[in-house]
Amino acid sequence: MQPVIDASRAVENLRTLIRIPTISHLDKSDTDWSQFVNFRETLASLYPRTHEVLDLELVDGHSMLFRWAGAAPGEATVLMAHYDVVFAEDEGWEHPAFSAELVGEGVDQKVWGRGTLDDKGSLVTILEAVEANVAAGFIPAHDIYLSFGHNEETAGSGAGLVVDLLERRGVRPALVIDEGGAVVEDIFPGVTKPIAVVGVSEKGILSVRLTVMQQGGHASTPPRLAATSRLARAVVRLNRSPFRKSFVATNLEMIRTLGAHARQPLKWVFTNLWLTKLPLLALFSRLSDETNAMVRTTQVVTQLSGAQAANALAERAEAIVNIRVAIDSSVEKTLAHVRRAIRDEAVSVEALHPSEPSPVSPTTGRAWDLLKETIEETYSGTIVTPYVMLGASDSRYFTRISDFVYRFSPFEMSKKERGTLHAKNERIHVATFLKGVGFYSRLIRKV
Ligand SMILES: [Zn+2]
Repeated sequence: MQPVIDASRAVENLRTLIRIPTISHLDKSDTDWSQFVNFRETLASLYPRTHEVLDLELVDGHSMLFRWAGAAPGEATVLMAHYDVVFAEDEGWEHPAFSAELVGEGVDQKVWGRGTLDDKGSLVTILEAVEANVAAGFIPAHDIYLSFGHNEETAGSGAGLVVDLLERRGVRPALVIDEGGAVVEDIFPGVTKPIAVVGVSEKGILSVRLTVMQQGGHASTPPRLAATSRLARAVVRLNRSPFRKSFVATNLEMIRTLGAHARQPLKWVFTNLWLTKLPLLALFSRLSDETNAMVRTTQVVTQLSGAQAANALAERAEAIVNIRVAIDSSVEKTLAHVRRAIRDEAVSVEALHPSEPSPVSPTTGRAWDLLKETIEETYSGTIVTPYVMLGASDSRYFTRISDFVYRFSPFEMSKKERGTLHAKNERIHVATFLKGVGFYSRLIRKV
């Protein structure tokens, strides 16, 4: 029996779930966990068949792990999403952040609200697809897991603990899909067709704390180099020492794949990389902040602190540098670069929450082909390309138990819409949301 997707019900379900403010706060005690309980209870009432047929375990308190038992063992699939969202208040929003208003008509119709794109939209598309297929009596060939994290936005512990659990049970997924890339336009010079970018790896991430300690005292008799100035000097030195630039193999594959669809003479430039690679690398490092981030480790000072009072010397001056590590580098190499750039023993350099870049998932073989084919069936005329994700996602934990981890949300997102992630006026087109349901429904029947 073919699954039947009730489009208007799916949209209503999304709206219901957007209205539950499952906001993640860095300080766990600020988080209203009753909203997370409410969210899960609502899921159970909206998706009764899924809850009847799939086994559900809670991990780390609130992360949800469903197992849909397959007809035969082996080759498990994991579909991921997270149901926490970043903070939003209504100010500056055209439609309130948690009202889930349905705005516009026809192809322009959108659902507004925090979490529509990041990442309840994915969660709901997965569940709509599962619910419809369970109702149709479908049994997957092998186990399908749904892993819905509760603290992705705060780089929390949920996904890591889910992976620990699966690892203990000997689960080695043949395919893992999480948020990340999307169907986008106008991201590559000379290419007008829509492009599906699929994250095959993601950069590493760490924060580095730079600290200068000094004897305190009154600001009327300052030393020649106060702790704050010493720290500022370190920051300036670091800024003057950008990390080495390079194209990793995934960058080159992306340029070749997309370049083949570019108009001339750009097509020639992008497909003769043996000759054009070095000038292109120089161009990427200068073209935009995004292309620069593609070709090197990036660093930015996000926090600075000094004395407690305006007229006191700082006993401790501190800077936090947020660093995204290129996939051909490592946390260790990055720290060595930072120390070398600062060249001052009085500035202590300490890594906070380091996470290495992820291994690269293959762009050949069954998992990739299946994903590519399903994207092409859902969005016909789309070019599918691998890329390296610049941000971090929960899927990085899964690289420990699977070589086939891909980061892709099955939605079309304009540049403007991508700009609403973690910002004001987040919304999703109803049409693309429904295509997302179709994407997961097809995928589920193939794996
Ligand atoms: Zn997200």
